[in-house]
Amino acid sequence: MEVTQHILTRSACYQAGRTIVPKGIMVHSTGVAQPDPAAFLKLWDSPEADACVHAIVHQGGVIQTLPWTHRAWHAGSPRNGGVSANNTHIAFEILEPKGHTYQGGAMVGYDPAANAAYFAAVYQNAVALTAQLCRQFSLDPMKQVVDHQEGCRLDIASNHADVMHWFPKHGKSMDTFRADVAALLKGEEEDTMEQSTFDAMLTAALARRAAALEAQPVSGWAKEAWEAAVAAGVFDGTKPQSPLTREQAAAVLARLGKLK
Ligand SMILES: [Zn+2]
Repeated sequence: MEVTQHILTRSACYQAGRTIVPKGIMVHSTGVAQPDPAAFLKLWDSPEADACVHAIVHQGGVIQTLPWTHRAWHAGSPRNGGVSANNTHIAFEILEPKGHTYQGGAMVGYDPAANAAYFAAVYQNAVALTAQLCRQFSLDPMKQVVDHQEGCRLDIASNHADVMHWFPKHGKSMDTFRADVAALLKGEEEDTMEQSTFDAMLTAALARRAAALEAQPVSGWAKEAWEAAVAAGVFDGTKPQSPLTREQAAAVLARLGKLK
């Protein structure tokens, strides 16, 4: 997943300069059929913009639009007096594809088959971004990742339907999303573990082989020559079957007077 940066420095949200200690991640989609991130960068990088998130997830990757610990404007006002997730959550907007409209918060004329590849790309990018943020801020993907709709039910966000008005059209939900983030994090841990386990095993195997060679007595066929070499002071008589390094070979040649 490619992450580029376009910090919305002209927005009043950025200018406010407030920070948060991230306690969760809130997933949004824009609620408009506009897949072009440039349209949102233009709209939001302005003193008049009244929304501002930490990142935009588009088909080709992710654009970070605020420092992750900046306080963003994405959750609005909870209906029952709760504390807005603006104060606690990192937020990103997933861009929706072209072709549909909205009526009463529901997508109209949305074609899941035509948008399957688009959805797979943005979903995967959102999973990868969320996993990266969970790792960076030590967040539990199963407990600390919600969408705007869940945020409303938890009374930490305004009454919006995203993203569960959209994900089920492609057989996905916030539950599959959290599980996919957790699986990605677990897979990365296992990869790391496997690599370190492999490195440790390789180091141990090499050390065992070196020790075994050091303990080997001189071979019968080489005994006479070896003893002569030791007697002549070319070798010290230890480790007859250990490999000879280039520096040791140079020292041997010097002892034999071959380098003058
Ligand atoms: Zn939203």
